[in-house]
Amino acid sequence: MLHLLPTLLPDPIWGLTAEFQADPRPEKLDLIVGVYRDENGQTPTLDVVKAAECQLAETAATKAYRPLAGNASFNASMTRLLLGDTSTELERAATIQTVGGTGALRLLGDFIKLAQPAATIWTTDPGYINHRPIFETSGLRVRDYPWRQSAEGIDVDLIFHCLADARPGDVLLIHGCCHNPSGIDPSAEDWTEIAAFCAKRELVPLVDIAYQGFGDGLSEDTAGLHRLVETLPLVLCSASCSKNMGLYCDRLGVAMVVAPEERAIAKTMRNLENLGRTNYSMPPEHSAAVANLVFNAKAQWVAELDAIRNRVSYLRKELCDTLERQGAPASFQALRRHKGMFSLLPLSPTQMQRLRSEYGIYGSDTGRVNIAGLRAADLSMAATAIADVAAR
Ligand code: PMP
Repeated sequence: MLHLLPTLLPDPIWGLTAEFQADPRPEKLDLIVGVYRDENGQTPTLDVVKAAECQLAETAATKAYRPLAGNASFNASMTRLLLGDTSTELERAATIQTVGGTGALRLLGDFIKLAQPAATIWTTDPGYINHRPIFETSGLRVRDYPWRQSAEGIDVDLIFHCLADARPGDVLLIHGCCHNPSGIDPSAEDWTEIAAFCAKRELVPLVDIAYQGFGDGLSEDTAGLHRLVETLPLVLCSASCSKNMGLYCDRLGVAMVVAPEERAIAKTMRNLENLGRTNYSMPPEHSAAVANLVFNAKAQWVAELDAIRNRVSYLRKELCDTLERQGAPASFQALRRHKGMFSLLPLSPTQMQRLRSEYGIYGSDTGRVNIAGLRAADLSMAATAIADVAAR
């Protein structure tokens, strides 16, 4: 049967990472993969997480199976983190622990296919490279809508124009904050308009929030999600603890369905559990137990997360200042307003390849760079290189 398998190309991001690792130049810079890096190029385990793991090593009594929905206390804390401690919508939420943000997206894809099999899911262009494959694997039809910067936020008129064909019950996937790969986030007015558009056209938003805390702060970054939940009867949400708790390989996230009424919750939960059950049975307990201790030490967590966000903001600002001083085209200054770790450099694939071959600076051919991969000491070199390839 193996001869029937399709021949697949290597994943572009991991392929480029292998190329980076083989590059002998000491000054090389890895701006490829979407993980936070510190000044030493490391992706550190948060101190608050290390303390939690030590505590668990002492106290964790059993590895016996856990409920299908995962850790109930973790699910409740995540629901509050996403919707706000005092939200009146908390009682409308069905939340299930998932295997990272990716697991949440796939579970919701399968959930949509079950509940609304003819739905089209609309994803952003440019967008996260795994969105389309995930939803297509769930059997959904996927179409793109444009995600372009406007004076204040995103070009909502262009979005609404391109969604002319969207039908009631279709799903509109929106990045909750820190759009991957563009860094362009909607303004408060944009969110209000998007919510009104979804209400008028009976679209169901799916808010993918993988970088909560990397934009303006943990609660600030959910403002858009809140606006949608306040306005609409049904909102889907996938959230990841990979970045904001640094739990990447421990695979922690949630899928949340904010239902039209409390009575829909039991049925929704049962279906979400069943989708997980027929795939991996139950999500991992260890990462959820760690996260519960992190929630208990929230002040320390927030302080560590603030330091991460401030480092990325500093690098972003310094890069823009240096590019300006070096006379790079004005289009690079758009990077100043971007949120989170990513931006798309206004460079062609050929220019991105030149950045790699001539300067050892590795970003994707699409222009995507991870700002956190820069080091303060290398900013001047990086800006010189970018300005040079931009000029040719
Ligand atoms: N959504 C977006 C927009 C992402 O960028 C990512 C990956 N960083 C994910 C979801 C998946 O998150 P996870 O690594 O937790 O599976």
